[in-house]
This record gives sequence, C-alpha cells and structure tokens, in this order.
Amino acid sequence: MQIARTWRQQASNLRLSGTQCASCHAHFFPGRIRCPHCASTDMQPHAFSGQGEVLVTTVVHEAPRNFEEQVPYLAGLVRLAEGPVIAALLTDVDPKDVAPGMPVEMVTRRIKSDGTSGPIVYAYKFAPLISELQDTP
Ligand SMILES: [Zn+2]
Repeated sequence: MQIARTWRQQASNLRLSGTQCASCHAHFFPGRIRCPHCASTDMQPHAFSGQGEVLVTTVVHEAPRNFEEQVPYLAGLVRLAEGPVIAALLTDVDPKDVAPGMPVEMVTRRIKSDGTSGPIVYAYKFAPLISELQDTP
C-alpha cells in the first residue's frame, strides 16, 4: 500500500506539479479540480518553477515516524514564485543563516525511508537559490 501511494505521488513530489485556473489564473499546489476563488472547473496542469522565498522556519528535533534519521532538520513555509504557500523541508543551509524573504529553489532529496525493506522516498526540499549565493560578496 505504501509503495503504491509513493508511486502515485512521484510526479508532484519530484516536479512540483500542480494546477492553474484557466479562468482567474490562480495557481495551486497540490493541484485542485475546482478553483476556490472563482469556482471554475477548468483547471490546467502546471509545472511550478521551483523558485520561491522563505516565510518562516523551525528546527524539528522530535520527528514523526520514518523521519527520525533526519533529526534535527529545518522545516518551514515557502511562498512559490507563482503564489502558493507550501510546507517544506529546507536543506543545504545552516538554520542560523535562514531569514524570512530568503530566495530558495526546489531540489530533489531523500525524504524518508520506510524501515529497512520499504521504499526510500525522494521528494522536494528547498535550498538557497544558487544565483543569489553567487551574487553575495
Ligand atoms: Zn479561478
């Protein structure tokens, strides 16, 4: 069962696939079948750019099941460039260097493993935007 669910979620987990309303152009992640803004059901698939900015973060020390091997880890809310706010893990950055408004981009990383024989799940995390780091003296 877990493997089947993991397989079904691959597209949205690895490519940030959502939807865009053809009527009012609002974006959604995860995708929706009806727009909550204008009630349109004309929703088109949308591949997000993967870029955004950090809104808030926290360091997680007590992890849920299957995430224990990543403790401590940085979790937060990221506002995607297209507008949706998503909960995500942050990576490749020291927690003391993260601040609200920091530009980030999606990267694919190992999220969890289901025991010793279960699937290893890869999904999106967010890392500091490389072009922003290169511009910093
Ligand atoms: Zn709409």
